[in-house]
Amino acid sequence: MEQLMRDFFLFLSKNKTLTKLAKKYGLRFGASRFVAGETIERAVEVIKDLNKKGLAVTIDYLGEFVDNAKEANEMADNSIEAIRAIGREKLNSQLSLKMTSMGLDISDELVMQNMRRILDAAKENGVFVTIDMEDYSRCQKTLDIFKQLKKEYDNVGTVLQAYLYRTESDIEDLKDYHPNLRLVKGAYKESQEVAFPEKKDVDDNFKKIIKMHLLNGNYTAVATHDDAIIEYTKQLVKEYNIPNDQFEFQMLYGIRPERQEQLVREGYTMRVYVPYGTDWYGYFMRRLAERPANVAFVIKGILRK
Ligand SMILES: Cc1cc2nc3c(=O)[nH]c(=O)nc-3n(C[C@H](O)[C@H](O)[C@H](O)COP(=O)(O)OP(=O)(O)OC[C@H]3O[C@@H](n4cnc5c(N)ncnc54)[C@H](O)[C@@H]3O)c2cc1C
Repeated sequence: MEQLMRDFFLFLSKNKTLTKLAKKYGLRFGASRFVAGETIERAVEVIKDLNKKGLAVTIDYLGEFVDNAKEANEMADNSIEAIRAIGREKLNSQLSLKMTSMGLDISDELVMQNMRRILDAAKENGVFVTIDMEDYSRCQKTLDIFKQLKKEYDNVGTVLQAYLYRTESDIEDLKDYHPNLRLVKGAYKESQEVAFPEKKDVDDNFKKIIKMHLLNGNYTAVATHDDAIIEYTKQLVKEYNIPNDQFEFQMLYGIRPERQEQLVREGYTMRVYVPYGTDWYGYFMRRLAERPANVAFVIKGILRK
């Protein structure tokens, strides 16, 4: 049943008509639990509140199905606006973005142009930029672009997904770039040709790549809400005397906020991924797919209308 719900919400997340409708009608159905707001001004207020609680942030301007250069350039402009707001308001925040939003499905030249514009602005404002990882069909291209950019900029990192068979060799392959990597389980629906179908295997591989990347001496962001993975990381860094400034935990805005604050109290860096913007629908559906229990919030949201 849970798997069916998951597949259903992942299917809904790719629906272009519903995406357009959602943009038109604004944050609805409890989406504001996971999305900081529709404007940068609102997102800045949310970040200030999180920073006051000792939480670091990475901000993400939401955008799905970008399929023309004009939209990709606008997405990049919005990311630059966010970077400038971080600099101006002296926020403790990084920036996250998706390659498809920058024009990955249109042309390599467009992506590189947008990424260089963003990374120049980020450098000027002392902001670190993480390239999110999308579905498997974009993985190789995203890593190729990341490697090219990493040769030119210090302030860029990316994400690897534990559910992919290839990730262990990607950790090895990227090792000498000394990348700051966010490690996650993986949020997309992938075939068993490329990804572990069983949760247990994903969890085991997650632990394996966390250990590999940390012991390679590289900065590791462990992005999960899973206590078993968090505990594993705590034990590992203790066992190998890995300092607290070589790793951090990350969670999504609106998920386990009390646990986020507890990790801060324990002395760890805890970064919250804060999405904002009008294009919230696909992101919201992927969150529901991860945890069908969240659907209860949605139903309450609809009933309140
Ligand atoms: C900061 C961040 C950035 C991410 N970036 C990417 C990316 O670039 N690409 C990508 O593919 N994926 C990304 N993801 C999503 C990720 O791949 C997973 O889909 C998502 O994090 C769910 O997996 P999990 O590790 O939290 O564990 P799950 O296996 O989903 O959850 C494990 C356990 O965590 C607890 N838990 C989970 N959710 C809740 C909740 N709402 N309330 C209470 N307990 C809960 C429960 O105990 C649950 O059993 C990101 C996730 C985070 C946190």
